[in-house]
Amino acid sequence: MELRVDRERCIGAGMCVLTAAGVFDQDDADGRVVALITAPTHDQESDVREAAQMCPAGAITLLTH
Ligand code: SF4
Repeated sequence: MELRVDRERCIGAGMCVLTAAGVFDQDDADGRVVALITAPTHDQESDVREAAQMCPAGAITLLTH
């Protein structure tokens, strides 16, 4: 699974950070999402899927290969 975030879409709601703390962070300067990793481990996948569903801006995309 590959994780992509669209910082242009992100509105800085922070839901992703609360849902998957080791995967997402927020930029100190503008509050927008920062992906700490691009390839979630198996253990992180369910949290990342949940974060993608919860994101109010649709800024989180998951690609399965
Ligand atoms: S949940 Fe979506 S809008 Fe909120 S910080 Fe994360 S990527 Fe941005």
